[in-house]
Amino acid sequence: MQITFWGVRGSIPAPGPQTVQIGGNTSCVEVRAGKAILVFDGGTGLRMLGKKLLKEMPITAHMFFSHVHWDHIQGFPFFEPAFVAGNEFHLYGGNNVSRTLEETLVGQMDHPNFPVDLGSMAAKMTFLDLAEGVPLDIDDGAGGTVRVTSAKGNHPQGVFAFRVEHGGKAIVYATDTEHYEGRVDQKLVDLAKGASVLIYDSQYTPEEYEGKKGWGHSTYEEGAKVARLAGVQKLVLFHHDPTQSDDAVREKERRAKAVFADVVAAHEGLTLEV
Ligand SMILES: [Zn+2]
Ligand SMILES: [Zn+2]
Repeated sequence: MQITFWGVRGSIPAPGPQTVQIGGNTSCVEVRAGKAILVFDGGTGLRMLGKKLLKEMPITAHMFFSHVHWDHIQGFPFFEPAFVAGNEFHLYGGNNVSRTLEETLVGQMDHPNFPVDLGSMAAKMTFLDLAEGVPLDIDDGAGGTVRVTSAKGNHPQGVFAFRVEHGGKAIVYATDTEHYEGRVDQKLVDLAKGASVLIYDSQYTPEEYEGKKGWGHSTYEEGAKVARLAGVQKLVLFHHDPTQSDDAVREKERRAKAVFADVVAAHEGLTLEV
């Protein structure tokens, strides 16, 4: 599998001279498995992924939404391949919000929020709300299968973490989840068991977290605990706080390396091979 990071920021885009190295776009991660294209979240990073995918059309892609907070859906109305007939998108959501994924994405583009509605996107779209823990198998276009399994995290209005398995390897995408005080999130440890890569919500340093309890985010220290218990190879720090400059993220990465050997802070354009 190949993982490419298009948006690594949490909460709100954070462009500017202080964030050019890490990037200011919100959550969007592309995974290639065989010939299958998987996308995790549609934050503002999705716009630039769309520009790349225009060159591969017609495409079929599977888009997984961890949840529908703004920073995970805002790129969708600017995802150019969705406006092009002949492309096909399977959109998966279904954490415990009061509306379906389809209703939320339609609502985001409804009058008076946006100039054109979702109906003006000409690509074929099928929506599917997932049930926690029920595996979904996707044809990899090369004689194999990609399996995606979900588990609920700890986040206001709910969130899904996803495990992607292909060719005997696994990666886990676990953003927007807050650790529990005094106990590890066993559900997440189980989901990440033996994974090559764990992409984890490391929005805060431990000091920053003290002022942000209940906001639904975590720290690199807690990510390292999950990674260790699950026997994960590489920990990727993800969903950086918008207030963190390039230097601050690098410092967070340096501190994380003291508690887990194989750590990298995600930045736009980072590609990992698994
Ligand atoms: Zn978020
Ligand atoms: Zn969120």
